[in-house]
Amino acid sequence: MPAQLIDGIALSQKLRSEIATRAAALTAKGTQPGLAVILVGEDPASQVYVRNKVKACGDVGFHSVLEKYEADLSEADLLARIASLNADPAIHGILVQMPLPKHINPHKVIEAIATTKDVDGYSVLSAGELMTGLPGFRPCTPYGCMKLIESTGVDLRGKHAVVIGRSNTVGKPMALLLLQANATVTICHSATPDLGHHTRNADVIVAAVGRRNTLTADMVRPGAIVIDVGMNRDDNGKLCGDVDFAGVQEIASHITPVPGGVGPMTITMLLMNTVEAAERV
Ligand code: NAP
Repeated sequence: MPAQLIDGIALSQKLRSEIATRAAALTAKGTQPGLAVILVGEDPASQVYVRNKVKACGDVGFHSVLEKYEADLSEADLLARIASLNADPAIHGILVQMPLPKHINPHKVIEAIATTKDVDGYSVLSAGELMTGLPGFRPCTPYGCMKLIESTGVDLRGKHAVVIGRSNTVGKPMALLLLQANATVTICHSATPDLGHHTRNADVIVAAVGRRNTLTADMVRPGAIVIDVGMNRDDNGKLCGDVDFAGVQEIASHITPVPGGVGPMTITMLLMNTVEAAERV
């Protein structure tokens, strides 16, 4: 029997409607959630991402500010803008769109954002909060993956989860979130000699690599849950993930499609973190 699709669009809509209700309640009490999005430079993909984020804010009743700067903005000027947004009571979340121009140190910029407004969850302190199990902002993509797994109704306790990829923004926080949910976690990466050896023993597989067909049907145990974070292009230029969807859906119990799986959840979890930031004020 083919796998059940985990529908990221439907789950996003449900969560965004809950976020809108929370935002309306806050606004009624005089605190409309506010997100500031900063874009430096003209990167076309980044332009689309920030537009989508700002539009999503409007859809759930948030106040949002989009600040666009030329690529030659100095690091000092960017840090000064962040300091002023840190002090702005109408702003509860600050997001600086990556990548930044080469002359700006992204680590310095991320660390300049107040932890209480770090809704991307990228700062060292936010990472430490996740590591130690303290409440804090979880990076949006892995946070969204957890919601997708939760939506299957499968309890992760005692399950073996394999994360393919160890980036600071996806793979590592994903592994920590799975660990927090009591899964036994294996992290694989480019130096893992036999990826299939690990994935074939997994109840849950999260692929976050950025390479088509990294996970094929012969690497999946029947009944596994498969979450595909990858965003790649196939030979026809069509968006596809890291998973050979056609083959793996015949083996897995649940699978996310690309597009329509993890993608929509990432912005939804950014909205979730922002409403939470506003509630904590
Ligand atoms: P990244 O920083 O490039 O990390 C990729 C990871 O994959 C690295 O840890 C790398 O290992 C590992 N890897 C590379 N080749 C491998 C192989 N053959 N076998 C096993 N592991 C391998 O990428 P990222 O930012 O984590 O993103 C991963 C993918 O998710 C990309 O396609 C990205 O576009 C997509 N993404 C999607 C969303 C969304 O909202 N849908 C959000 C974020 C990212 P090493 O560490 O050893 O190099």
